[in-house]
Amino acid sequence: MESRDSIADVWGPRTPHAGSEPGSWPARPDLRVLEEPTEWVQSVCLLCSTGCGLDIGVRDGRMVGVRGRAEDRVNHGRLGPKGLHGWEANASADRLTVPLIRKGGKLVESTWDEAMALIVDRSKALKEEYGRGSIGFYNSGQLFLEEYYTLALVAEAGIGTSHVDGNTRLCTATAAISLIESFGTDGAPGSYTDFDVTDALFVVGHNMASTQTVLWARVLDRLEGPNPPKLVVVDPRATVPARRADVHLAPRPGTNLPLMNGLLHQVIEKGWIDSDYIEAHTTGFADLVRTTDPWPLERTSAVTGVPASRLEAAAEILGTSPTLVSTCLQGVYQSLQATATAVQVNNLHLIRGLIGKPGATVFQMNGQPTAQNTRECGVNGEFVAFRNWNNADHVADTARVWNVEPSTLPTWTPPTDAMTMFRYAEAGAIRLLWIMGTNPAVSLPEAARIHKILERDELLTVVSDAWLTETARRADVVLPAAIWGEKTGCTTNADRTVHLSQKAIEPPGKARSDLDILLDYARRMDFRDKDGAPLIKWSDPEGAFEGWKACSKGRPCDYSGMSYELLRARGAVQWPCNDQYPEGRERQYEDGVFNTAMETCETYGHDIVTGAAYEPNEYAAMDPKGKAFIKGAEWVPPPEQPDDDYPLFLTTGRVTYHWHTRTKTGRVPALQAAAPEAIVELHADDAAALGISEGDVVAVRSRRGEARGRARVSGIEPGVVFMPFHYGDWDEPGRDSTANSLTITGWDPVSKQPYFKYAAVRVQRVSSGDGTRPPDPTQIQAGVSASRPRGRRERDSREPAGSRR
Ligand code: SF4
Repeated sequence: MESRDSIADVWGPRTPHAGSEPGSWPARPDLRVLEEPTEWVQSVCLLCSTGCGLDIGVRDGRMVGVRGRAEDRVNHGRLGPKGLHGWEANASADRLTVPLIRKGGKLVESTWDEAMALIVDRSKALKEEYGRGSIGFYNSGQLFLEEYYTLALVAEAGIGTSHVDGNTRLCTATAAISLIESFGTDGAPGSYTDFDVTDALFVVGHNMASTQTVLWARVLDRLEGPNPPKLVVVDPRATVPARRADVHLAPRPGTNLPLMNGLLHQVIEKGWIDSDYIEAHTTGFADLVRTTDPWPLERTSAVTGVPASRLEAAAEILGTSPTLVSTCLQGVYQSLQATATAVQVNNLHLIRGLIGKPGATVFQMNGQPTAQNTRECGVNGEFVAFRNWNNADHVADTARVWNVEPSTLPTWTPPTDAMTMFRYAEAGAIRLLWIMGTNPAVSLPEAARIHKILERDELLTVVSDAWLTETARRADVVLPAAIWGEKTGCTTNADRTVHLSQKAIEPPGKARSDLDILLDYARRMDFRDKDGAPLIKWSDPEGAFEGWKACSKGRPCDYSGMSYELLRARGAVQWPCNDQYPEGRERQYEDGVFNTAMETCETYGHDIVTGAAYEPNEYAAMDPKGKAFIKGAEWVPPPEQPDDDYPLFLTTGRVTYHWHTRTKTGRVPALQAAAPEAIVELHADDAAALGISEGDVVAVRSRRGEARGRARVSGIEPGVVFMPFHYGDWDEPGRDSTANSLTITGWDPVSKQPYFKYAAVRVQRVSSGDGTRPPDPTQIQAGVSASRPRGRRERDSREPAGSRR
């Protein structure tokens, strides 16, 4: 049995292939068990948006390991370090097991009855005194579809509030809106199998090797096989993908849009476009010519800092490869002009006619495992099942499905985004904020401000979580939540693949699933439909899924042909799945017909520079009736530029071994040992100029705060500093390594996604380190593997041994 240490060997051994057909990626089942399981329970990994199919090994009511599902279309058996180790967090000793209520300034143990009564009494009183807009829900990208859909009914039909958003606002709001702006509705056009056959990859602001390790393994197996695709990477850091690229473009922070405009200018000027496709299937090309015309090579190079020769080389690959897969992630979404930039990547595919074909698609990638479900279910600022909140027919149809009066639904205004919700809470307009499965005290920008908001006396802060996070510590009521492996529900990943994650073990103590918590709340609030029957008709996950099927029927994200039975049997099914596509549909838009017709589209669109929303009558005048939108955009320079006081640009991001604010991964010994503390990556020239050596403790300061970490000299661009955002202080009270202490309260005008990728900062040496270089945030070097907990037998291999279903 070949053994593998997934901490040191993140991507595992290569299984190269020639890319003969979509899905031709060889299987490689990964396994890690600490004891021999007596039962395997079908599930999916929930530690990034890749969505790798796995089975949970159970023995004596405990999780004892996981194995990748070789037959799963997403991962073909592979699991990365978070997937192989992350499940250990379920058994951490500090799980919340009973509700907590703040009394006399302290959180004390309580009962479900007391906690729910407090929330329900306050909800009723607030609704009566201040109206439905006084209550807000800030949810997650890590719950299950059934929970989001139930939340949609609770919040929008029960309370009737428009203040419902997810932490998906921080990760995939731009993915959603850029797809809507170009193609009419949300949802990935293509399939992960497109990676298997494509001729070229364009990876924009997406450190796939760290954030989606199994997807990167899929790319590596093409790169190391015969007929490898060309690789173009855009990133200011010399990430693993950047080092593997044929062309690496490292633009200055805040210049993504000029870079894309310059590349598009080259493609158009050289005539590498598909004029027939543009004519037949798009509208707006002339606008793109106008906005890219001012970006010839010399100007693009001068503004972005990318050498002209590299721009030319990249444009040639992007313009001439017969097929192309592009991916965007936070380097685009969390930076300046996020939507405008993401749309330009869509434009590249539209002007080349490279969409809806094997090997030709664009992934506006998700960050979180169930971000797609948050968006589908309408609890992230979109309306349910990709309906248009501004379309009276869509509102009436939702009211029909939910059997409520249309006026019940909060459609007099656009759904509120998270940043505005926190502003409303700060101003006293929102007086009850229910936070589910997310940790804004660490993950939202300008952390000190968020802490003050959460602690406001006038605000009842309710937190449902599995641990006493930095947010939960500031709450008035804390509800202990069951998590992955302790409840059943569906998840949809970044290529529209739906998995059923089944309950494997009981949650600890009195913890409950978010679904059960919401159902209890709805019952106590006595939410009714227009006929006086209970608003919510289900009492378990499968019932919620059946309700969702009815709601999604006929919409682009149609689940009506799925069932728990089908998902158990098939393991993974893509939407839409209905009478027309009973097996699911692998690619959308093969026929060049997009969801842009007025009666279908999810919004009426925006000016992608200013964010101004178009009115229905404006959309009617330009109704493309199924053609995709090509939207150009002019550059707006960053509002905060480095100066004498703050001479460097800060960019934040993730490392391989941690997930979000480490609530799970920080409790897994091997993952925590691999990345135990915040690092501050600097270019060698900047480090030398500041008198900073490897491993020194440095302070990073912005106009908003300070955060500390250990210096790591890396291949980052000069003038740019990188910090991971994972590190709050739950495990080390008083530690000041929260990168979001430095970030800006500001957001993209269209997607409302906050800026995390640029802030002006200065860096100063605080003290000497211990002389060692901090670990590589991407991969612990072989032979320097992280330590493991003592006394545990571990098998970490490619093949199941002695396992049984
Ligand atoms: S790539 Fe993502 S989904 Fe797959 S095992 Fe790793 S963390 Fe889990």
